[in-house]
Amino acid sequence: MSTRTVQIGTIFIGGGRPVAVQSMCATKTTDFQATAKMCQHLHEHGAAIVRVAVDTPLDAAALAKIRDLTDANLSVDLQENYRLAETVAPFVDKIRYNPGHLHHAEPGVPWTEKVRVLAEIATQHDCALRIGVNCGSLDPAKKQDAAELPPMLRSALEHADFLDSLPFYRYCVSLKGSDPFAVLDANRAFARLRPEVPLHLGVTEAGMPPEGIVKSRLALEPLLAEGIGDTLRVSLTVPNARKTEEIDAGREILRNVENGTVISPDQWNANRLNIVSCPSCARVENERFIELAEAVREATRFAADWPIKIAVMGCRVNGPGETDDADFGLWCGPNRVNLKRGETLLGSFSYDEIVPKLIEKMYQ
Ligand code: SF4
Repeated sequence: MSTRTVQIGTIFIGGGRPVAVQSMCATKTTDFQATAKMCQHLHEHGAAIVRVAVDTPLDAAALAKIRDLTDANLSVDLQENYRLAETVAPFVDKIRYNPGHLHHAEPGVPWTEKVRVLAEIATQHDCALRIGVNCGSLDPAKKQDAAELPPMLRSALEHADFLDSLPFYRYCVSLKGSDPFAVLDANRAFARLRPEVPLHLGVTEAGMPPEGIVKSRLALEPLLAEGIGDTLRVSLTVPNARKTEEIDAGREILRNVENGTVISPDQWNANRLNIVSCPSCARVENERFIELAEAVREATRFAADWPIKIAVMGCRVNGPGETDDADFGLWCGPNRVNLKRGETLLGSFSYDEIVPKLIEKMYQ
């Protein structure tokens, strides 16, 4: 069964069309010239859709200017403030919302009411929606629910059912996480239960190349080979000047699937050091983030055979939650980096202190 066709700006996804490769801007959204330039650069390199993060009214206002300066199909990434959709919708082609972050703004308002507002705005402004479920930022209510389905899958199904009931069908769904095998399972299960809903595929915090590409391949290649997935993004922790590598990696995955050279799960040893790091975006709190992720990788080479996970995240929006399941988590503030062991905060340290501090704690 092929998925529904969904229009996003000048392209259509689903309905058996070729899989669209996406990327995301990591410039400050308020720096509208740099952001528009990056959107255009990614678009010219082959990004079918380019995502831009919006968290504040100033970010939202910048979208109007960005729209005038690029031909890219634009998707706006909303996390905590769903109300900003109203301001940005006239200038974008798709609105991504995260069900796990809807509870932050206006906590007394039920999520169904918020999604209804988003669907109305999308309809009014000819936009698509993406239900962007993320394993590291699930609705707290979902985490405590003892039902049988995994929380990420339940959240995606619940939101898809609700949009259908409105009715609103111009949407796709993503179920992402940093564990490629969890992403694989969740997407397979969703596609089995809702085969008509287009899926956007990706592994979050895949990290730096080449490991980041391998992790994405492990989830995406088997799914695509099974006919699951309508769009994809390979999230890589790379400097802005190398962001086109995400598109190249996405194309490589599509080529592998076409050629039947799908990666085998044996090519990943989970019992060794696993560094997950976010790809950075406009929310990154300090430009030294990419440098920090690379420094962590270099400084922890001695522990290559240790079966531990270190998460390095760029901001406070997703950093605290998405480091919870790591043995050590680092998430960046403007001047200091927070260090956690599991869910416990060990302290915050300057950008110069943090790597030696991490090594010290690894030995304790
Ligand atoms: Fe952007 Fe923060 Fe996610 Fe990194 S953790 S990609 S900075 S939202």
